[in-house]
Parts: sequence; C-alpha cells; structure tokens
Amino acid sequence: MPLLRTAMLWMARQRQLEALVRAAPPARPLVQRFIAGETLDEALAAVRQLNARGMTATLDVLGENVADAREAQAAAETYCHVLDQIAASGVESTISVKLTMLGLDIDPALAQRNLEAIVDHARRLGNRVAVDMEGSPYTQRTLDLFYALHPRYGDHIEMVLQAYLYRTERDVEDAIAHRARVRLVKGAYDEPPTIAYPSKRAVDAAYRRQLERLLEHGHFVSIATHDEAIIRAARGFIRRMGIGPYKYEFQMLYGVRRDLQEQLVRLGEPLRIYVPFGRQWYPYFMRRMAERPVNLLFVLRAIARG
Ligand SMILES: Cc1cc2nc3c(=O)[nH]c(=O)nc-3n(C[C@H](O)[C@H](O)[C@H](O)COP(=O)(O)OP(=O)(O)OC[C@H]3O[C@@H](n4cnc5c(N)ncnc54)[C@H](O)[C@@H]3O)c2cc1C
Repeated sequence: MPLLRTAMLWMARQRQLEALVRAAPPARPLVQRFIAGETLDEALAAVRQLNARGMTATLDVLGENVADAREAQAAAETYCHVLDQIAASGVESTISVKLTMLGLDIDPALAQRNLEAIVDHARRLGNRVAVDMEGSPYTQRTLDLFYALHPRYGDHIEMVLQAYLYRTERDVEDAIAHRARVRLVKGAYDEPPTIAYPSKRAVDAAYRRQLERLLEHGHFVSIATHDEAIIRAARGFIRRMGIGPYKYEFQMLYGVRRDLQEQLVRLGEPLRIYVPFGRQWYPYFMRRMAERPVNLLFVLRAIARG
C-alpha cells in the first residue's frame, strides 16, 4: 500500500497534525508503545527491563534537523551525558545519533566536530555510537562523515545502510573494504523510484543479497529488521556458513514485534533493541505508523476521539 505509506510519511512532516496527535489522550498508549518516555530516567528504566530479558539496547535521543549551531552543540552535550549515565547506571546500551540533529543542515564541519566529541567520549567509556541514516539528501554526507572518523575510531562507530537505495550495493562493497561495522535496514523514508526500489518485494530481495554479502565478507553486521522470513533465512545462512556470533547481532525497534524479540532471545541469538526517548517523538512515531498502514486507522481514531 505505497499510497498510504506516502500519506503517513507526509503526515510525519506536518506540524499542525503533530499538535492534534499530542493533544489526543487516546493516542497516548500507542505513543508509549514505541517511545520509551520523555526523560532519560524513563529510558534507562526501559533499558534495564530489556537487559533483564536478555536484550542489549541502543538509546536514541529524539530530535532532527536543528537550525542553530547552539542547539546542535547542546544535542552533542546531551548525548555525552547519556553516555555518562549509561556508564554510571551499569546498563548494557550503546547510543544512536542523527547527524541533522548535530548540525548537518547548517555546516558539515560543525556536525563532524559534534559527532567527534560524542564518539571520543564513547571511546573513553568503552562504548559505541551508531550513526543513523536519514533521507537520501543526506546519504553521501553521512557516509563521508562516517569515513572521516572511522580510521580513528574503528568499532566505536557504526554506520547504517538502507537496502532500498540502488546505490547501497556499492556502499556495501565500500563498507566491506573498510572493515566498517554496518547496521543493515530496509529504509524508512519516502524515496522516489529513480533512486530506490519501489516495491516491497524488490527491497526484500536487495536486503537478502546485501545481508549475505555482509555476513560472508563484512566485518560485523547488525541485522536490523522485524521481517520473520528474512530473519529465518539469515539464521539458516549463518548456520550453513559457520558464521560466529562475534560477526553479527539482530536489532529491532522498541515496541515492535515483542513476541519475535522474546523468541530470538530464547533461541540464544544476540539482540539489541533501539530505544528512542525524548520530547520530540512525533516524526519518529509517524515513521513507525507508516510501516504498518493499519496503524493509520489507530491514529485517526485517536485524533477523532481526542
Ligand atoms: C534497530 C533499527 C534501527 C533502524 N535505523 C534506521 C535508520 O537509521 N534509518 C532508516 O531509514 N531506517 C531505520 N530503521 C527502520 C527500517 O528502515 C524499517 O523502516 C523498519 O525496520 C521496518 O522494516 P522491517 O525490516 O521490519 O520490514 P517490514 O517488511 O517493514 O516489516 C516486517 C514485519 O515487521 C512488523 N513491523 C514492522 N514495522 C512495524 C511497525 N512500525 N509496527 C508494527 N509492526 C511492524 C510487521 O509484522 C511486518 O510485517 C531501523 C530499524 C531498526 C530495527
């Protein structure tokens, strides 16, 4: 249902709709399912619960596209504070950052300085930073920044590649050549067919191809999907090829397919949960709604009742 998905992703960019969703009490349980809270304490409590269930985490401070250098620097400081609190509380969690939140729209050099400060801090604490991938206008700049830092920071920094982009086959080969740690996702943004596979079937096939390549020849791959068929195929490939657990982990989003999360842990697979928190949850929340069009009905019903 690509039309519904496009509509949901359009809604994710509409500030007036954000006010409606925020003001509708019936939307709250739905938001709480995907967002671990608005404060760091709430998020750390959620991570503690995941750890107790045998899962590690990666914390994401919600926010995108800052327009002011001070805001970008404040975001970097917030992330360093999150790293300190992860260390102090003893939970098992890395962090995930978005470069637009660190100033990429203002000046790539500013975003690089902010990212460097965070990764440097993470390295001192023995932790790691994943650089989330945003919409296609940012793909090349995000990879450039990643590769600028990777020689110095190695496994303290992880990149994200989106299987739906045609260019990703090439980016996978670069990542293999650089021995970079990769999180492979299908891709969450609305991209035109000139640069991305338009059908789910083609995206799934691309994901499988790229995943096998990374599992066989890559340094480390985070298999970030809730797609049961892909997970089953990946586990089969891993077993057949004799690939050890030091070369991969599974990753899923907070609140999505909790049954499948439990199942993977029971099977003894390494699993990390992406845990978003913060006040600016609306665009992230709407992207999650877009991944399952039936969710649109829940949102509209909540607005109508609110
Ligand atoms: C750890 C992690 C990090 C990510 N980081 C990024 C990133 O940096 N950049 C980026 O573009 N994308 C990112 N994504 C999102 C990703 O691109 C996909 O949009 C998302 O994972 C849905 O695709 P899927 O692989 O689960 O497969 P799909 O084919 O979309 O879904 C497979 C099945 O999973 C279930 N499912 C999936 N999504 C939902 C949902 N929202 N609600 C309920 N059920 C659902 C359904 O049962 C569905 O049938 C990330 C995803 C994960 C898991």
